[in-house]
Order: sequence, then structure tokens, then C-alpha cells
Amino acid sequence: MAINLYDYAHTAADRGWGSGWPRCSGGSDLATVTADRSGTRVSVRKGLSVLVDTLLDWTERPDGGNYLLKPGQCGGYNCRPIAGTRTPSNHSWAVAVDLNWNDNPYTSTGRHTIPTQVAAVWKHYGFAWGGDYKGARKDWMHFEFMGTPADAVEKSRLALTHLAAPGGAQPSPPAGGALARGSSGPVVAAMQARLNRDYPAYSTLTVDGAFGAATEAVVREFQRRAGLAEDGVAGPATLAALHLA
Ligand SMILES: [Zn+2]
Repeated sequence: MAINLYDYAHTAADRGWGSGWPRCSGGSDLATVTADRSGTRVSVRKGLSVLVDTLLDWTERPDGGNYLLKPGQCGGYNCRPIAGTRTPSNHSWAVAVDLNWNDNPYTSTGRHTIPTQVAAVWKHYGFAWGGDYKGARKDWMHFEFMGTPADAVEKSRLALTHLAAPGGAQPSPPAGGALARGSSGPVVAAMQARLNRDYPAYSTLTVDGAFGAATEAVVREFQRRAGLAEDGVAGPATLAALHLA
């Protein structure tokens, strides 16, 4: 389903992310992601980690958003209400991030440094921007995901395809390398997303870039059905069969 970026009538709980403040169920489902260029780290839901990681890396890349993040001025998960209220903040579900809060304060002055292309790309991948708030005060630093966990899988796949590498190339597996239990990173995430997209009858993996038992089971099932050696290791033959090699 299409994501409505301006549907503030529904909460992240309505969209399937569990409970927010004061019972922050997402607190036990977190991943820390790192923006490559600055090393800035934020914690978000595991199901959003590939998408946020890809967006943060793109935001900083000179051929992307070219907007450098500042460690210590960015955040994700925070189990709290919206300041001065008893309404849960989207940060309490770990589906929101704040970028460079000293430069992009919650203010009615219009002062901020978020480039137009950065706001546009985050919005394209399902994040509402606080700079679009209707009221006089804008939350310039704030981006929150407005989709469901299933939307996050789809947006992760699109972001990996279109944003992950310079020129929009698909991330390619390590030359001669194989992915196996314990492997991690964007290539594993691309494989998980590809399995979910093409084989939804038996692949409903979390696209988190971590090759664990669930991913291994799906790889085995894929290999069995494809007539490949059923070893649970995604080597060159398996990756080629998935059109990832
Ligand atoms: Zn925020």
C-alpha cells in the first residue's frame, strides 16, 4: 500500500510497530547503524536498519546528498513522550531519526541546513519530514517512517537498488566470496530482499543484513527447489540463480 506521509492521525502502533512510550516494546528490537563518512551512529528498529543505514550513507556521500552528519547531534530511539505532552514520540518506537539538531532546531524561524535533495530522498523512501509540519514551528531535524514493517522491507529493497552504490548499481557480492551463517552487510540484505520479493511463498525474512538461522533455512529451501547443492551457503551458483552475481 502507498505510504501517506501526512497521516498523523495514525501512530506507529497502528502501523504494526508495537507499543511506544511508556511501554517501548521496540527497545528490545534495536540495531545501531553508522553513517559511513562521519561515523555518526543512531539506533533504530531492526526492520528499518537497512533503510536508515542506506539513507544515512547516501545523505553524506558527495555524489548523494553531500550533507555531513555530526556525531553527537543525531539520534534515533528514545523512550519518551513528545516534549511537554503525554503523547508518545515516534522516537519511542525507534522509527524516527533526528539529523544535526543544533543546526536544525524545532523552531518557527525557518533556520535549518537540511538540503532540498536530502529531504526529498528521505520522503521518497517513506519518511515524513518535520520541516513539512503545518504549524508555525517546524521540526527541521526530524524524519519519521510512515509505513508498516512490510513497507520497510520494500523500501529497503528499493534503496539498496537505487541508492546503495554510486551510480545506483546493485551491491555486488565479494568476488569469489560466499555468503553463509555469520555473514553480514548490504549484500546479505540485498539477498534477503531478493528472496522475499521473488519467493514470498517461503521467504518472509527480516531484511537486516544479518545471515542467521532463518536466512540459512530460506537459502536451503531455495537451493532445494532450484536443484542446487543444498548446503545453506550462498556461493556463486546460488547467487547467480538469484540474479545477484
Ligand atoms: Zn525527532
